[in-house]
Amino acid sequence: MGVASIGIIGAGQMGNGIAHVMALAGYDVVLNDISEDSLNSALARIEKNLERQVSRDAISEDDKQTALNRISASLHLPDVGQTDLVIEAATENEDVKYKIFEGLVPHLKPDTILTSNTSSISITRLASRTDRPEKFMGFHFMNPVPIMKLVELIRGIATDDATYQTCLGIVQSLDKTAASAEDFPAFIVNRILIPMINEACYTLYEGVGNVASIDAAMKLGANHPMGPLELADFIGLDTCLAIMNVLHDGLADTKYRPCPLLTKYVEAGWLGRKSKRGFYDYRGDQPVPTR
Ligand code: NAD
Repeated sequence: MGVASIGIIGAGQMGNGIAHVMALAGYDVVLNDISEDSLNSALARIEKNLERQVSRDAISEDDKQTALNRISASLHLPDVGQTDLVIEAATENEDVKYKIFEGLVPHLKPDTILTSNTSSISITRLASRTDRPEKFMGFHFMNPVPIMKLVELIRGIATDDATYQTCLGIVQSLDKTAASAEDFPAFIVNRILIPMINEACYTLYEGVGNVASIDAAMKLGANHPMGPLELADFIGLDTCLAIMNVLHDGLADTKYRPCPLLTKYVEAGWLGRKSKRGFYDYRGDQPVPTR
């Protein structure tokens, strides 16, 4: 199926990145959010990020303007229904996502494909709340979207091959690479990455190393570009904990129990970079380890 227009629901850090790459690749984008502030800051962020690409000669001024002209912002969910493919990228909360899909279905064109950028929620369960489980998939971008090359494509139990092939074509048109995943908790990247981060938290909790030595060990010893605790702060410790809980509940295996120290940081509101404190304190000029 040909896709010319893309609806994006949720204009947060992922939604604005998805709108950016889609518009630059030539798709018309309708970006929706319930918050006018989120929509305005998303548009400002997209312009700033495109400007940065112009200053690095990655794109021309004309490409930037054309991409910006392709994006329209709307607070009205039905506006998204007339697009060819919808990517839901709202808050990671199952009830929020159910309400969005239930509110959207009456306004959809018959062929519109529905997808979710969820990091961990069951695609099959989300699809079951719509009128078209066979045209529903997981379309999971990585953060930051304009830079990261991977998109995980997750088939629900009912997803048909035409839907999968259409989404695969879109990923290729973005010059990104797709990894296909089956619909099990946290899919591929987070199934492997988040337990590693959780293990780094246990390594800290048990006093095997401190924040600096754990991050240095994995950067220099395993050739990771970022240490696991630095990466946890970048992702958000609340997100890491939520994904561990999805793995623990969904796979019912004690090896996925969240580290009590990770829980404690989240309870303290120390969520990483976004709250200026996590495994590092970001309130000064340089990040300082908190343990
Ligand atoms: P975010 O908090 O930055 O943005 C969420 C946005 O959704 C907010 O602007 C909020 O106003 C909006 N929203 C909430 N309810 C809505 C509704 N009913 N209708 C429309 N908009 C609504 O979150 P994010 O980090 O962009 O994450 C969005 C999704 O992407 C989540 O499902 C998350 O799991 C997934 N994801 C996040 C990352 C990451 O690293 N942050 C990576 C991959 C996938």
